[in-house]
Amino acid sequence: MDYAENILETIGNTPLVKLNKLVEDLPCLVLAKYETFNPGNSVKDRMALQMIEDAEADGRLKPGGTIIEGTSGNTGMGLALAAIVKGYKCIFVISDKQSKEKMDVLRAVGAEVIVCPTDVEPDDPRSYYSVSKRLGEETPNSWYVNQYDNPSNCKAHFKTTGPEIWEQTDGRVTHFVVGVGTGGTISGVGSYLKMKNPNVKVWGVDTYGSVFKKYHETGIFDENEIYPYVTEGIGEDILPANVNFNIIDGFTKVTDKDAAVYTQRLAKEEGMFLGNSAGAAIKGVLQLKEHFKPDDVVVVLFHDHGSRYVGKMFNNDWMRKMGYID
Ligand code: PMP
Repeated sequence: MDYAENILETIGNTPLVKLNKLVEDLPCLVLAKYETFNPGNSVKDRMALQMIEDAEADGRLKPGGTIIEGTSGNTGMGLALAAIVKGYKCIFVISDKQSKEKMDVLRAVGAEVIVCPTDVEPDDPRSYYSVSKRLGEETPNSWYVNQYDNPSNCKAHFKTTGPEIWEQTDGRVTHFVVGVGTGGTISGVGSYLKMKNPNVKVWGVDTYGSVFKKYHETGIFDENEIYPYVTEGIGEDILPANVNFNIIDGFTKVTDKDAAVYTQRLAKEEGMFLGNSAGAAIKGVLQLKEHFKPDDVVVVLFHDHGSRYVGKMFNNDWMRKMGYID
Protein backbone atom coordinates (compact mmCIF):
# COMPACT_ATOMS: atom_id res chain seq x y z
CA MET A 1 0.00 0.00 0.00
CA ASP A 2 1.15 3.49 -0.76
CA TYR A 3 -0.36 6.21 1.41
CA ALA A 4 0.53 9.32 3.42
CA GLU A 5 0.34 9.10 7.22
CA ASN A 6 -1.61 12.37 7.31
CA ILE A 7 -2.43 15.30 5.02
CA LEU A 8 0.76 17.19 5.94
CA GLU A 9 2.88 14.52 4.27
CA THR A 10 1.35 15.49 0.92
CA ILE A 11 2.84 19.01 1.06
CA GLY A 12 5.43 19.76 -1.64
CA ASN A 13 6.71 17.82 -4.68
CA THR A 14 4.37 19.81 -6.93
CA PRO A 15 4.54 19.47 -10.74
CA LEU A 16 6.35 21.71 -13.20
CA VAL A 17 4.09 22.41 -16.19
CA LYS A 18 5.00 23.93 -19.58
CA LEU A 19 3.15 27.07 -20.66
CA ASN A 20 2.13 27.04 -24.31
CA LYS A 21 -0.23 29.58 -25.88
CA LEU A 22 0.29 32.54 -23.55
CA VAL A 23 4.06 32.56 -24.05
CA GLU A 24 4.11 32.01 -27.83
CA ASP A 25 5.96 35.30 -28.36
CA LEU A 26 8.83 34.36 -26.05
CA PRO A 27 11.93 32.65 -27.47
CA CYS A 28 12.44 30.31 -24.49
CA LEU A 29 10.87 27.48 -22.51
CA VAL A 30 8.56 28.73 -19.73
CA LEU A 31 7.67 26.29 -16.95
CA ALA A 32 5.18 26.87 -14.16
CA LYS A 33 5.88 25.58 -10.63
CA TYR A 34 2.28 24.65 -9.96
CA GLU A 35 1.73 25.11 -6.24
CA THR A 36 -2.02 24.55 -6.13
CA PHE A 37 -1.28 20.82 -5.90
CA ASN A 38 -0.50 21.36 -2.21
CA PRO A 39 -3.33 20.18 0.11
CA GLY A 40 -4.32 23.74 1.05
CA ASN A 41 -4.20 24.70 -2.66
CA SER A 42 -1.28 27.07 -2.24
CA VAL A 43 2.49 27.32 -1.85
CA LYS A 44 1.92 28.61 1.69
CA ASP A 45 1.41 25.10 3.10
CA ARG A 46 5.17 24.66 2.88
CA MET A 47 6.13 27.63 5.02
CA ALA A 48 3.21 27.20 7.44
CA LEU A 49 4.40 23.71 8.34
CA GLN A 50 8.03 24.83 8.62
CA MET A 51 7.11 27.77 10.88
CA ILE A 52 5.09 25.48 13.17
CA GLU A 53 7.78 22.80 13.32
CA ASP A 54 10.48 25.35 14.16
CA ALA A 55 8.27 26.99 16.83
CA GLU A 56 7.57 23.56 18.38
CA ALA A 57 11.27 22.71 18.35
CA ASP A 58 12.35 25.79 20.30
CA GLY A 59 9.32 25.96 22.62
CA ARG A 60 7.56 29.07 21.21
CA LEU A 61 4.55 26.84 20.42
CA LYS A 62 3.49 24.53 23.24
CA PRO A 63 0.96 21.63 23.33
CA GLY A 64 -2.64 22.80 23.01
CA GLY A 65 -1.51 26.33 22.14
CA THR A 66 -3.25 28.96 20.00
CA ILE A 67 -1.67 30.07 16.73
CA ILE A 68 -2.29 33.76 15.92
CA GLU A 69 -1.50 35.35 12.58
CA GLY A 70 -2.42 38.20 10.30
CA THR A 71 -3.06 36.33 7.07
CA SER A 72 -4.69 37.04 3.74
CA GLY A 73 -5.87 33.47 3.58
CA ASN A 74 -3.32 31.11 2.12
CA THR A 75 -0.94 31.11 5.08
CA GLY A 76 -3.98 30.70 7.31
CA MET A 77 -5.09 27.64 5.36
CA GLY A 78 -1.65 26.05 5.69
CA LEU A 79 -1.48 26.84 9.41
CA ALA A 80 -5.03 25.54 9.96
CA LEU A 81 -4.33 22.20 8.28
CA ALA A 82 -1.20 21.69 10.37
CA ALA A 83 -3.03 22.85 13.52
CA ILE A 84 -5.78 20.26 12.99
CA VAL A 85 -3.30 17.41 12.59
CA LYS A 86 -1.14 18.60 15.50
CA GLY A 87 -3.88 19.74 17.92
CA TYR A 88 -3.64 23.56 18.05
CA LYS A 89 -6.27 26.33 17.82
CA CYS A 90 -6.04 29.15 15.25
CA ILE A 91 -7.10 32.81 15.31
CA PHE A 92 -6.55 34.73 12.05
CA VAL A 93 -6.78 38.47 11.53
CA ILE A 94 -7.66 39.39 7.95
CA SER A 95 -8.22 42.73 6.19
CA ASP A 96 -11.62 43.56 4.69
CA LYS A 97 -9.99 43.90 1.24
CA GLN A 98 -9.69 40.11 1.02
CA SER A 99 -12.29 38.05 -0.82
CA LYS A 100 -15.19 36.56 1.16
CA GLU A 101 -14.30 33.13 -0.22
CA LYS A 102 -10.96 33.28 1.58
CA MET A 103 -12.62 34.06 4.91
CA ASP A 104 -15.22 31.29 4.46
CA VAL A 105 -12.51 28.78 3.65
CA LEU A 106 -10.57 29.61 6.82
CA ARG A 107 -13.70 29.23 8.94
CA ALA A 108 -14.40 25.90 7.20
CA VAL A 109 -11.12 24.50 8.54
CA GLY A 110 -11.97 25.51 12.09
CA ALA A 111 -10.19 28.85 12.45
CA GLU A 112 -11.60 31.90 14.19
CA VAL A 113 -11.42 34.80 11.70
CA ILE A 114 -11.36 38.47 12.72
CA VAL A 115 -11.89 41.04 9.94
CA CYS A 116 -10.20 44.48 10.21
CA PRO A 117 -10.60 47.63 8.08
CA THR A 118 -7.95 48.25 5.39
CA ASP A 119 -8.29 52.03 5.33
CA VAL A 120 -6.76 52.85 8.73
CA GLU A 121 -3.16 53.70 9.68
CA PRO A 122 -1.02 50.74 10.90
CA ASP A 123 -0.88 52.24 14.44
CA ASP A 124 -4.70 52.62 14.64
CA PRO A 125 -6.01 50.13 17.29
CA ARG A 126 -8.46 48.71 14.68
CA SER A 127 -5.71 47.93 12.15
CA TYR A 128 -4.76 44.43 11.13
CA TYR A 129 -1.29 44.96 12.65
CA SER A 130 -2.56 46.32 16.01
CA VAL A 131 -5.28 43.70 16.43
CA SER A 132 -2.96 40.74 15.72
CA LYS A 133 -0.34 42.14 18.10
CA ARG A 134 -2.88 42.71 20.88
CA LEU A 135 -4.36 39.21 20.50
CA GLY A 136 -0.85 37.77 20.70
CA GLU A 137 -0.28 39.57 24.00
CA GLU A 138 -3.70 38.83 25.53
CA THR A 139 -4.33 35.18 24.56
CA PRO A 140 -2.85 32.66 27.02
CA ASN A 141 -0.50 29.97 25.62
CA SER A 142 -0.47 31.66 22.22
CA TRP A 143 2.17 32.09 19.56
CA TYR A 144 2.20 35.00 17.10
CA VAL A 145 3.58 33.65 13.83
CA ASN A 146 4.62 36.86 12.00
CA GLN A 147 5.22 35.41 8.54
CA TYR A 148 6.79 38.67 7.34
CA ASP A 149 9.82 38.46 9.60
CA ASN A 150 9.79 34.76 10.55
CA PRO A 151 12.96 33.17 9.03
CA SER A 152 11.28 29.74 8.80
CA ASN A 153 9.19 31.17 5.91
CA CYS A 154 12.22 31.64 3.67
CA LYS A 155 13.83 28.45 5.01
CA ALA A 156 10.89 26.29 3.81
CA HIS A 157 11.54 27.39 0.23
CA PHE A 158 15.31 26.99 0.53
CA LYS A 159 14.78 23.44 1.81
CA THR A 160 11.99 22.27 -0.51
CA THR A 161 10.76 24.53 -3.37
CA GLY A 162 14.24 25.54 -4.56
CA PRO A 163 15.69 21.99 -4.63
CA GLU A 164 12.55 20.69 -6.39
CA ILE A 165 12.90 23.30 -9.17
CA TRP A 166 16.61 22.55 -9.53
CA GLU A 167 16.02 18.79 -9.81
CA GLN A 168 12.93 19.06 -12.05
CA THR A 169 14.86 21.20 -14.56
CA ASP A 170 17.96 19.01 -14.29
CA GLY A 171 19.88 22.10 -13.22
CA ARG A 172 18.99 23.91 -16.47
CA VAL A 173 16.85 26.68 -14.95
CA THR A 174 18.21 30.09 -16.04
CA HIS A 175 15.54 32.46 -14.65
CA PHE A 176 13.14 32.38 -11.72
CA VAL A 177 10.20 34.82 -11.78
CA VAL A 178 7.73 35.15 -8.89
CA GLY A 179 5.33 37.55 -7.18
CA VAL A 180 6.63 39.02 -3.91
CA GLY A 181 4.61 39.56 -0.73
CA THR A 182 6.36 38.48 2.47
CA GLY A 183 9.35 37.61 0.26
CA GLY A 184 9.68 34.07 1.59
CA THR A 185 9.23 32.40 -1.79
CA ILE A 186 11.60 34.58 -3.83
CA SER A 187 14.29 34.69 -1.14
CA GLY A 188 14.27 30.97 -0.31
CA VAL A 189 14.05 29.69 -3.88
CA GLY A 190 16.29 32.46 -5.26
CA SER A 191 19.10 31.89 -2.79
CA TYR A 192 19.01 28.11 -3.30
CA LEU A 193 19.15 28.42 -7.10
CA LYS A 194 21.96 31.00 -6.93
CA MET A 195 23.89 28.73 -4.56
CA LYS A 196 23.67 25.95 -7.16
CA ASN A 197 24.39 28.30 -10.10
CA PRO A 198 25.25 31.98 -9.47
CA ASN A 199 24.23 32.81 -13.08
CA VAL A 200 20.53 32.11 -12.43
CA LYS A 201 18.58 35.38 -12.64
CA VAL A 202 15.88 36.05 -10.04
CA TRP A 203 13.05 38.49 -10.86
CA GLY A 204 10.34 39.71 -8.52
CA VAL A 205 6.86 40.72 -9.69
CA ASP A 206 5.54 43.77 -7.84
CA THR A 207 2.32 45.82 -7.95
CA TYR A 208 1.73 49.54 -8.51
CA GLY A 209 1.12 50.84 -4.97
CA SER A 210 3.97 48.78 -3.45
CA VAL A 211 7.45 49.83 -2.32
CA PHE A 212 9.63 46.92 -3.50
CA LYS A 213 10.74 47.97 -6.99
CA LYS A 214 11.74 51.51 -6.07
CA TYR A 215 13.51 50.33 -2.90
CA HIS A 216 15.48 47.71 -4.86
CA GLU A 217 16.55 50.24 -7.48
CA THR A 218 17.37 53.21 -5.25
CA GLY A 219 17.64 52.01 -1.64
CA ILE A 220 14.96 54.58 -0.80
CA PHE A 221 11.77 53.63 1.06
CA ASP A 222 9.47 56.04 -0.77
CA GLU A 223 6.06 56.57 0.88
CA ASN A 224 4.81 58.18 -2.35
CA GLU A 225 4.91 54.71 -3.89
CA ILE A 226 2.22 53.53 -1.44
CA TYR A 227 -1.45 53.70 -2.46
CA PRO A 228 -4.36 51.22 -2.46
CA TYR A 229 -4.33 48.54 -5.15
CA VAL A 230 -6.51 45.61 -6.14
CA THR A 231 -4.06 42.78 -6.86
CA GLU A 232 -4.09 40.21 -4.05
CA GLY A 233 -1.14 38.44 -2.44
CA ILE A 234 1.77 40.55 -3.70
CA GLY A 235 3.26 43.99 -3.02
CA GLU A 236 3.71 45.61 0.41
CA ASP A 237 3.81 48.97 2.16
CA ILE A 238 6.54 47.64 4.49
CA LEU A 239 9.93 45.95 3.99
CA PRO A 240 9.55 42.42 5.44
CA ALA A 241 12.73 40.79 6.77
CA ASN A 242 12.00 37.86 4.46
CA VAL A 243 12.71 39.89 1.31
CA ASN A 244 16.42 39.37 0.62
CA PHE A 245 17.02 42.20 -1.85
CA ASN A 246 20.63 41.04 -2.42
CA ILE A 247 19.63 37.91 -4.32
CA ILE A 248 17.00 39.69 -6.47
CA ASP A 249 18.21 40.90 -9.88
CA GLY A 250 15.21 43.14 -10.55
CA PHE A 251 11.50 43.80 -10.12
CA THR A 252 8.84 44.39 -12.74
CA LYS A 253 5.50 46.00 -11.84
CA VAL A 254 2.21 44.71 -13.22
CA THR A 255 -1.00 46.79 -13.23
CA ASP A 256 -4.17 45.64 -11.43
CA LYS A 257 -5.95 45.41 -14.77
CA ASP A 258 -3.26 43.26 -16.41
CA ALA A 259 -3.05 40.98 -13.36
CA ALA A 260 -6.83 40.43 -13.48
CA VAL A 261 -7.00 39.98 -17.27
CA TYR A 262 -4.07 37.52 -17.28
CA THR A 263 -5.64 35.55 -14.41
CA GLN A 264 -8.60 34.95 -16.76
CA ARG A 265 -6.33 34.22 -19.73
CA LEU A 266 -4.38 31.54 -17.81
CA ALA A 267 -7.68 29.75 -17.17
CA LYS A 268 -9.09 30.16 -20.68
CA GLU A 269 -5.94 29.65 -22.74
CA GLU A 270 -3.88 27.22 -20.66
CA GLY A 271 -6.53 25.47 -18.55
CA MET A 272 -4.79 26.82 -15.47
CA PHE A 273 -7.43 27.95 -12.97
CA LEU A 274 -5.28 30.04 -10.63
CA GLY A 275 -5.25 33.00 -8.29
CA ASN A 276 -4.69 36.66 -9.05
CA SER A 277 -0.95 36.65 -8.32
CA ALA A 278 -0.47 33.98 -11.01
CA GLY A 279 -1.95 36.42 -13.54
CA ALA A 280 0.49 39.07 -12.33
CA ALA A 281 3.39 36.61 -12.45
CA ILE A 282 2.78 35.47 -16.05
CA LYS A 283 2.31 39.07 -17.21
CA GLY A 284 5.58 39.85 -15.42
CA VAL A 285 7.31 37.09 -17.42
CA LEU A 286 5.95 38.58 -20.69
CA GLN A 287 7.19 42.05 -19.69
CA LEU A 288 10.71 40.60 -19.24
CA LYS A 289 10.82 39.27 -22.83
CA GLU A 290 13.97 41.21 -23.79
CA HIS A 291 15.94 39.36 -21.09
CA PHE A 292 15.31 35.86 -22.50
CA LYS A 293 17.30 33.91 -25.14
CA PRO A 294 16.24 30.75 -27.03
CA ASP A 295 17.99 28.21 -24.76
CA ASP A 296 16.76 29.77 -21.53
CA VAL A 297 14.57 27.86 -19.09
CA VAL A 298 12.31 30.29 -17.23
CA VAL A 299 10.49 29.01 -14.15
CA VAL A 300 7.52 31.06 -12.92
CA LEU A 301 5.83 30.08 -9.66
CA PHE A 302 2.03 30.13 -9.38
CA HIS A 303 1.00 30.57 -5.75
CA ASP A 304 -2.68 29.69 -5.36
CA HIS A 305 -5.95 28.40 -6.81
CA GLY A 306 -8.67 30.20 -8.78
CA SER A 307 -11.54 29.08 -6.53
CA ARG A 308 -10.67 31.84 -4.07
CA TYR A 309 -11.31 34.50 -6.76
CA VAL A 310 -14.64 33.44 -8.28
CA GLY A 311 -16.36 36.54 -6.90
CA LYS A 312 -13.72 38.86 -8.38
CA MET A 313 -11.31 38.11 -11.25
CA PHE A 314 -13.52 35.28 -12.53
CA ASN A 315 -16.73 37.31 -12.27
CA ASN A 316 -17.28 39.36 -15.43
CA ASP A 317 -19.69 41.76 -13.70
CA TRP A 318 -16.91 42.61 -11.26
CA MET A 319 -14.38 42.82 -14.13
CA ARG A 320 -16.66 45.27 -16.01
CA LYS A 321 -17.34 47.32 -12.87
CA MET A 322 -13.59 47.68 -12.39
CA GLY A 323 -13.19 48.72 -16.05
CA TYR A 324 -10.95 45.72 -16.80
CA ILE A 325 -13.12 44.37 -19.65
CA ASP A 326 -15.71 45.95 -21.99
N1 PMP B 1 0.51 35.14 -4.10
C1 PMP B 1 -0.38 34.84 -3.17
C2 PMP B 1 -1.75 34.45 -3.60
C3 PMP B 1 -0.03 34.90 -1.80
O1 PMP B 1 -0.93 34.58 -0.86
C4 PMP B 1 1.27 35.33 -1.45
C5 PMP B 1 1.64 35.47 -0.01
N2 PMP B 1 1.30 36.77 0.50
C6 PMP B 1 2.18 35.64 -2.47
C7 PMP B 1 1.76 35.53 -3.80
C8 PMP B 1 3.58 36.12 -2.19
O2 PMP B 1 4.41 35.11 -1.67
P1 PMP B 1 5.51 35.46 -0.58
O3 PMP B 1 4.78 35.89 0.64
O4 PMP B 1 6.26 34.18 -0.36
O5 PMP B 1 6.37 36.54 -1.11
